[in-house]
Amino acid sequence: MDRQQEFVLRTIEERDVRFVRMWFTDVVGSLKSVALAPAEVEAAFEEGLGFDGSSIEGLSRVSEADMLLQPDPSTFQILPWRGETEPTARMFCNILTPDGEPASSDPRGVLKRVLEKASDMGFTCYTAPEIEFYLLKSADLDAEGQPVPVDHEGYFDHVPGGVVQDFRRKAVNMLEAVGISVEFSHHEAGPGQNEIDLRYADALQTADNIMTFRTVIKEVALAQGLYATFMPKPFTEHPGSGMHTHFSLFEGDTNAFFDGGSEFRLSRTARHFIAGILRHAPEFTSVTNQFVNSYKRLWGGGEAPSYLSWGHNNRSALVRVPLSKPDKVQAARIEYRGIDSATNPYLSYAALLAAGLQGIENEYDLPPVELDDVAAMSSAERRALGHNPLPSSLYDAIRETEESEFMAELLGEQVYDYFLRNKRRDWNDYRRVVTPFELKNNLGIL
Ligand code: GLN
Ligand code: MG
Ligand code: MG
Ligand code: MG
Repeated sequence: MDRQQEFVLRTIEERDVRFVRMWFTDVVGSLKSVALAPAEVEAAFEEGLGFDGSSIEGLSRVSEADMLLQPDPSTFQILPWRGETEPTARMFCNILTPDGEPASSDPRGVLKRVLEKASDMGFTCYTAPEIEFYLLKSADLDAEGQPVPVDHEGYFDHVPGGVVQDFRRKAVNMLEAVGISVEFSHHEAGPGQNEIDLRYADALQTADNIMTFRTVIKEVALAQGLYATFMPKPFTEHPGSGMHTHFSLFEGDTNAFFDGGSEFRLSRTARHFIAGILRHAPEFTSVTNQFVNSYKRLWGGGEAPSYLSWGHNNRSALVRVPLSKPDKVQAARIEYRGIDSATNPYLSYAALLAAGLQGIENEYDLPPVELDDVAAMSSAERRALGHNPLPSSLYDAIRETEESEFMAELLGEQVYDYFLRNKRRDWNDYRRVVTPFELKNNLGIL
């Protein structure tokens, strides 16, 4: 029993915790939870908690269904929305095979492997997400089959007495209460659309935070009789919900992305990192943008990036270099704008970091910066400049991943197979559906 584990057991005792939830994540990024009686926690630390992984998406083959959950004591947290007396707590878990080895099917394990590689190269990876989502009146659709947003305000609008302000205040308080620091929160461009930006943390903690964030936001919305959605593009006519993520690599206390003397203050390490991301983006887009609907966002305007490019003050860029605080060395970072709010954060961050690290390892050359709006160029101009498109649909994205050795190696055989199988099933289900678009345009043709 180590000190962190002892601390958890003591806190459970002192706070009279009634349930301890074991949290883990399936391949798609859904949060899974099993509640433990406090008396079972010690054994879970020592031996792991046995469970049947076969009915969880992507976790194990039916023939090897037995898996173990091993709680990570550093993630112990009391969940404030479950009440103060006899509270409920949670810990994120690692998934192990029956002989105690890390299970190759654990998405959290995929990210941990990449972080170990980064650490071998001398780097700590920090990440900060800007999470967008829509707040709706309920999960029901209106008579036209549309979701109903809570308001009709726009970017940075201040809505006096508005339900959304009240919601954001409660949500931010709740997030802080579970140890997640919020830097900014504001109304986004779409009706009922909001954004909450988390303070940077190491990449594993950020991915855990995103899992917690989605649960907190849904809980706070429900408590107000509302409904929050992380669907990438709920409205044809309004922007989608992205999850821009800022990345930096540190060597000890030194920001390895900063070089005061070069263009945009980007070090060689940062330039190679961006080059790695641009090279592999088409291959990992099925992970960062994993649903049929994700491609309606990427190709639906609303400041979502559709082409491979990097820039500075350029909202059409896939990778942007923010320079809002030029004198702050520690704040030097890059922003990936492609990823959406409905991703599995462990797999996405694993892919983005692994791509960046490959760029560093192989010293990939960074193409020239793009200062113009890539979306406004002609296809010929884009082709000449090397701004190739991101995959145009889930189908295209799956094809890219199927061809990718980078992704096969990153995910490991089991996650790679399950992920692709799950996504192919989504696509096959989708492509046979006759949509309202077709009925409107085709019922009366010819
Ligand atoms: N909602 C936009 C997207 O889908 C981002 C808008 C912004 O924050 N600039 O990526
Ligand atoms: Mg933002
Ligand atoms: Mg935004
Ligand atoms: Mg941003």
